[in-house]
Order: sequence, then structure tokens, then C-alpha cells
Amino acid sequence: MSRGSEAAQQMLDEFGLDSVIDEDLCDLVYARGLVFQEVPLSGCEGRIIYSPSGQTAVVTVNSNTRYRPRKRFSIAHELGHYELKHNKIHCENEGTLDCYRKGHQEAEANEFASELLMPAALFDKAVQGRCFSPALVEEVAEQFGTSVSSVVYRYLMSGPVPVAAVYSYCGKVVWWRKSQGMQRRMIDWTGREVPHNSVSEEWFQDHTVYATNDIQDVDLNVWFDLGMYRTYTHTSSKRFGMEQMGIRGWDSWDEAKEDTSTGEPMCHEHCFVSRDFGSALAVIWED
Ligand SMILES: [Zn+2]
Repeated sequence: MSRGSEAAQQMLDEFGLDSVIDEDLCDLVYARGLVFQEVPLSGCEGRIIYSPSGQTAVVTVNSNTRYRPRKRFSIAHELGHYELKHNKIHCENEGTLDCYRKGHQEAEANEFASELLMPAALFDKAVQGRCFSPALVEEVAEQFGTSVSSVVYRYLMSGPVPVAAVYSYCGKVVWWRKSQGMQRRMIDWTGREVPHNSVSEEWFQDHTVYATNDIQDVDLNVWFDLGMYRTYTHTSSKRFGMEQMGIRGWDSWDEAKEDTSTGEPMCHEHCFVSRDFGSALAVIWED
């Protein structure tokens, strides 16, 4: 377990809570003896300012943030900075609250927020034994009072079905990640335009938004580099013992769903879009 996740578990234990689903997170801020305020901030979602001794702090969230899950994530993130003793001023924006950010302290605070809002045991219970679907992401987000993007991040880290996620802004890919269990080779899309024939492209070109239960199929080679998979067959993967090692994907060309019209294997893509930010978070997975 990461340092951020551990600190969140410790805090839950200390307060005798299994989860914070029914809690107003401000109460946790007050319970730590910190000052909490909600005021209009410009260019900033939330911030924490410490006293010179570092013993106390003022946590502020932007009162203009309309999306409640976003606000909860900001508060949890600031609590994370405090619990992890990141004793300097932190101002949060789209970048620092991005779960995929690599900066050490921001990444830790996000891990803390993710674990505080969706404790591992409860998250596993919510997703284990279930197929992946956009509806499941929305259901889990609703259950934990958090955003779909933080559920996607949590699912990438520990969900049972391998998925890939691609975040794009203004038609260009900002970052992408895939689950450890996904053996397909993703093309490095960072900084490139979203691929032709993807659902992401439809959103940026025509603002097409599909309902969560209207799942779209796209050719696997829209997002993935299939070159190497064509050369491996069931026979060769068995010969190399990959099947016994539990490695999936080398031979999944044969297993992938066939689109009868083209004979090309398909995967699913769904975009969670933000009209406010002009962004799309695409999730890609196979049956
Ligand atoms: Zn931060």
C-alpha cells in the first residue's frame, strides 16, 4: 500500500470510520483542529496554508465549484497534504488534482484522497465479480460520492478487468494509462491528436455523447499496436508457457470479439466528457 493510502486508512481507523460516504468532510478538517472556509477562488480549486509552526492550517475550497464530488475530492486532497506533513502552501488546479499527476507530494495527496473516499475493502466489494461498464463507474461514483474520473483511476489501479484510460483536451491526448493486467501494447498517444475512428474523435468533432448503456465498439487497432500479437498464436503462447503463467493478451487476437463486417477484432470505448473543460476521459476495454 502506498504512503498516501496508508495515511488515509490510518485516519479512518483513528476516527473509527469504515468510510466517509455519509460524512461531511469539513467535519474531519475541524476535528483535526484546522480552519475550513469556502470562498470564491480564481484559478484554484482549493488550497492549504499552514501556520508558521506547521501545527495548524487553513483549508479553503472554491465556492464556485459546482460539482460536489469535485469539492469533496479537493477537501480530501488538502487533508492528505496535512496528514502527510507536506508543510508548505498548496494551491490546487486541474493539474494538481489530476489523479495521474506524477509530482511526489501531489501524487501522495491524491492517493490519500482516493483511499479516504473509496477505501480499498469497500471499493473491491463494489467491483469484484462484476463486468466492467461505464454504468458501473457511474454507480460506484454515486455510491462513494466521488467523481467518475477518480473511480476510473481507482479501477485502473485495482479493478478486476483490465482497462485503459485516455484523457484528452481540445482533441489532443494529455495522458493515458492502462491496468497492469492489460497485456496489449498501447500506442503512446501523449501529445497526439485522438485517433481517427475513435469515440473520443466523435466527441471532439461533433460533440457526440453516448449514453452509458449505449456501448460503442471500435477496432482494436484504433488504440492499440497489434503488430506483435499477430505473430503469436494459441500454439506459440502455450509453447512458451505464457498461458500457464496467467499472461493474457499474447494470444488474445484469437479471443477478441470479431466484427463480422471487417473481420477485425474490436474493443469497447466510452467517453466521460466534461463540457466545462472541453475534455474527454475515454475508457477502453474488452469483454
Ligand atoms: Zn495538492
